[in-house]
Amino acid sequence: MVSRRQLLKDSAAEALALWASSRSLKAQAAGNARLTDKVLVVDGGGANVVAFSGGEGFVLVDSGAPKSGDKVMAALSGFASGSKVQTLFNTHYHLDQTGNNEMFAAAGAKIIAHDRTRQWMSTDYWVPAEDRYENARPKAARPTETFLTTGSLKAGEEQIDYGYLTLAHTSGDIYVLFKNTNVLAVGDVASPLRDPALDWFTGAWIGGRVDSMDILLKLANDQTKIVPAYGPVMTKAEFKAERDLMDEVRERLFKQVREGDGPKDMLEEGVLKGLARTWKDPEKFLYDACKGLWGHNDKIGPNVV
Ligand SMILES: [Zn+2]
Repeated sequence: MVSRRQLLKDSAAEALALWASSRSLKAQAAGNARLTDKVLVVDGGGANVVAFSGGEGFVLVDSGAPKSGDKVMAALSGFASGSKVQTLFNTHYHLDQTGNNEMFAAAGAKIIAHDRTRQWMSTDYWVPAEDRYENARPKAARPTETFLTTGSLKAGEEQIDYGYLTLAHTSGDIYVLFKNTNVLAVGDVASPLRDPALDWFTGAWIGGRVDSMDILLKLANDQTKIVPAYGPVMTKAEFKAERDLMDEVRERLFKQVREGDGPKDMLEEGVLKGLARTWKDPEKFLYDACKGLWGHNDKIGPNVV
């Protein structure tokens, strides 16, 4: 029989564990996380900024949301004081990832991105969900060096490989792999915290998302630290779980769309039910996913029943 004392001890231990895990979650959500002696994930106004310190200065992946510049700078100088940002990657064109580009460019940083990211930042474009135009970014904010497929560079001893991810979230998503330190920045192609988002008006769609996640899985091993645009750092196993879930969603949506269902029908029929994640705005997700599927109808095959 379990003694009363033992029971009390167990429940105290349980409470302590619960308290500790909620504390570490909070710390993760609110602050900066040091991944290795060379890599810090900085809170850039809610979005992750990956900072690699080595060689001549910093290499950053994404610059943070507008108005978070001072906070990001403070975190960087706390990490390696006197060090300048040499190179800034943009994983895609969204403001949360490019909001402080001007600041780093003015201090001499080179900005590397996919060429379509530069294009989106260079023109006014329509945001259908918000029924408004987004203005082109000033020239000083735009990428200074673009590519189409893959590229690599050295920062001190570190090998940095980067490459295009086909239509996963926007039309210009990229990954950045810090090979020696084994940190992989994947932008908004993984979404452990927020609803997975598909900018269908750029061509992004769920098929592209799953394909891109497969490319990323091949770049990672069990020790790789995978950094998404928002939320906690992921292991390969956690990333694989999100990939498998998205593949399940893809398969369900293919089936429904072949039957002629729209987003409302899908929602009513419970297309997102029974999955290991919930959606904050399932209707928006399904609307965007359907728009993407209609745009890529040549890839979903006929309904042969
Ligand atoms: Zn985004």
